[in-house]
Amino acid sequence: ALADWQRPLRAQFPIIEGHPGLVYLDSAATSQKPRPVLDAVQTYLTTSNANAARGSYPWANTTTALVEGARERVKSFLGDPDPERSSVHFTSGTTEGLRTVARDWLPFLLVDGDEIVVPFADHQANLSPWLEARDLLARRGVRVRVRELPYQASSGDYDPRALAAVTGPRTRFVAATHVHHVYGVDMNVHRIRQVVGPQVPICLDAAQSIGHLPVSVAGLDVDFVVFSGHKALALPGTGAVWARGLRGPRLRPGGWSGTPNTVGIASLVAALDWLEAAGTGRIERWTVALTALLTDGLDRMDAYEVLGCRTSLSAGSRVQRRRSLVTFRHRGIDSRDLGFILFSHGFMVRTDGHCQAGRAAQEGSVRVSLHVHNTPEEVEGLLSALASLQ
Ligand code: PMP
Repeated sequence: ALADWQRPLRAQFPIIEGHPGLVYLDSAATSQKPRPVLDAVQTYLTTSNANAARGSYPWANTTTALVEGARERVKSFLGDPDPERSSVHFTSGTTEGLRTVARDWLPFLLVDGDEIVVPFADHQANLSPWLEARDLLARRGVRVRVRELPYQASSGDYDPRALAAVTGPRTRFVAATHVHHVYGVDMNVHRIRQVVGPQVPICLDAAQSIGHLPVSVAGLDVDFVVFSGHKALALPGTGAVWARGLRGPRLRPGGWSGTPNTVGIASLVAALDWLEAAGTGRIERWTVALTALLTDGLDRMDAYEVLGCRTSLSAGSRVQRRRSLVTFRHRGIDSRDLGFILFSHGFMVRTDGHCQAGRAAQEGSVRVSLHVHNTPEEVEGLLSALASLQ
């Protein structure tokens, strides 16, 4: 039944349908766009393109309403229980979003002697903004200690016991990641909340979860959600910060500090509409099943080493915690060479250190990431190509 649901959705991606010999397996880097998103771009640019919050003629009003409506759309997509008090700020992506929280909120949340906890082994985008903010505050005489959000090697998740050891009464902020961009692990954000208590703001890098699974700010109990529109079926140069109300300042009064990426925002609204209509729960089930197929196949081949979750967990639970991406190495073939070989079979994958901030960064690997348009046949085809290289 899920296959019957998926087929017409796949047919809505023109770039996929237009390239029958190629298989796109790099959605974690950026997503392909379904027809309604492309149509929304065309419609906006050909019917009402104007700057927002400036003119008083119909196109300008339409654009202003588009941007304001998009804030509400992001809130409803995230299941925001209190949209009157929260705010949404559009950015060019997750990197700028995290920098925005670090630059514009963090100074209001911290005083001399405070501590923040941030992930040293996630994406570079979720480390450098916090270190930069610390240095900026230090120049103003506010000393903030940055502590490392600890990992549990066995699960790939944050380690709740070690987390208790790095947090304390001076902890004022935690930056975490929802789904890890190399290990594909769904991080247990609930446990972070349990450990730090209700008062400490948690900022979630949701770059790899928005569009892949239902994300509910109420369920997660987080204070900031930062994501990239372009990884969630919208245009490049789009992204958003959702901020829970009454925690720090509103960034830019009214949110109008310059010309927003209006066409990108139009694409984001269309993408969120499309994802919701398709059903993020069903997208999750589809891609988790494909990822399990791939991980199982890799596990059966000695030539490959899957990164993350290496010990103690049974294969079943390991697969369950892995979302729509798998990263691995061939024990004898350099990852970039493997990428070239796979492309000769039509498979487009990511190779390199994956912008990872932690220690594994320097060693290359291949990342396969999936979205709703991918199929079991594509995964089987990839596994056959990988098997032929053993
Ligand atoms: N965080 C994570 C977890 C990511 O996977 C990425 C993109 N690879 C980013 C941040 C940065 O996103 P962007 O390039 O859209 O700013």
